[in-house]
Amino acid sequence: MIPSDITYTCVDRFLKYVRYDTQSSETSETYPSTLKQLVLGEELVKELLAMGLKDAEMDEFGYVMATIPATVDRPGIPVVGFIAHMDTSPEVSGENVKPVLHENYNGKDITLPADPTIVITVDDNPDLSGKIGETIITSDGTTLLGADNKSGIAEILDAAQHLITHPEIPHGVIRICITPDEEVGAGTKYFDVKKFGCQYAYTIDGEHLGSIENETFCADSMTITFKGVNIHPGFAKGKMVNSIKIAAAFIDSLPKGRLSPETTANMEGYVHPYVLNGGIEETTVKFLLRSFEVTELRDQEALLRELAEKVVADFPKASMTYKVEESYRNMRFVLDEHPAVLEVARLAMERMGITPHFGSIRGGTDGARLSYMGLPCPNIFAGEHSFHSKREWISVQDMHKAVQTIIAIAIIWAERA
Ligand SMILES: [Zn+2]
Repeated sequence: MIPSDITYTCVDRFLKYVRYDTQSSETSETYPSTLKQLVLGEELVKELLAMGLKDAEMDEFGYVMATIPATVDRPGIPVVGFIAHMDTSPEVSGENVKPVLHENYNGKDITLPADPTIVITVDDNPDLSGKIGETIITSDGTTLLGADNKSGIAEILDAAQHLITHPEIPHGVIRICITPDEEVGAGTKYFDVKKFGCQYAYTIDGEHLGSIENETFCADSMTITFKGVNIHPGFAKGKMVNSIKIAAAFIDSLPKGRLSPETTANMEGYVHPYVLNGGIEETTVKFLLRSFEVTELRDQEALLRELAEKVVADFPKASMTYKVEESYRNMRFVLDEHPAVLEVARLAMERMGITPHFGSIRGGTDGARLSYMGLPCPNIFAGEHSFHSKREWISVQDMHKAVQTIIAIAIIWAERA
């Protein structure tokens, strides 16, 4: 039951959604952080209702949810959800986006029409070399595009449209959720996992065709406080201990050429000083600790503690205290307990002729947070590239394959029951 006859609506939807400015804000006190996100939310509810998803609604926080009813009634078919986010990054303007279609892409660098200094190069975007002959969508160069993550919304709604108009396709209950404020780290803040009612879910927010992201960092923060002795500088000889100088010596003792964000990639972790506050008496350094393994976080913590103690030993009467706080954990630890979630995504892609690639994210995701809220949720590709920039791009053909993947996931979950 492979859907070969899809009349795709995802591109038209996408071109419409990117025209809504849904930029979220880091500094806002409201939820969602910007009310303009709700304007797109209302439009999505309208479209879902028009499609026949009768329970489509947006809650007070801006979460849009809807149900595609089951076409088969067999016990054991789990309720499966698909999730995308409606906001765009605060880093680049999303106002007045003018999408540009580059048909029959020729494999060369793409210069954006409204600002010729903005060039999407094949060097920086190696995935482009696989897209010759396809249709690439970009912005005109004055704004971001918003493929992150409006492509995911368009693909989910396109798949929903296909499933609802093809009741002969066997699947269980499918749920949809479009969230606000993902880009400001608050996409799951008021996510009602119970109301969503799914056993498993997928965020459709990944980059490369075929990507299935099942790992995120484990993250802690560590605050190290150095205490010195303050006294009037005029009478300080032999008495003052300046904690600013202790902190400086400590920072200087950090490993060079490794274990930092600027010297690591792929599966390597790092320690990252990102805030420094101080005076003579007391200086505080805040660190991010990042690794894919909890044991490595403990090693990082031990290393920083040893370096700090060693420096303090050189300053008589100085002292050091520290505090470690847990931020989030690798989503793999949850997904390992539910291997079917990844297995179904892999099978769905293979059935559609897509080569799946498992990958990791050097950060956290909403799916990782949801996984720890009881909803195992890996991230699969939407096709969006170079996000949070004016050089964002997506291939129409990748979007179609994402729609196929969503439909195939729905079908395979029903087959397995
Ligand atoms: Zn995103």
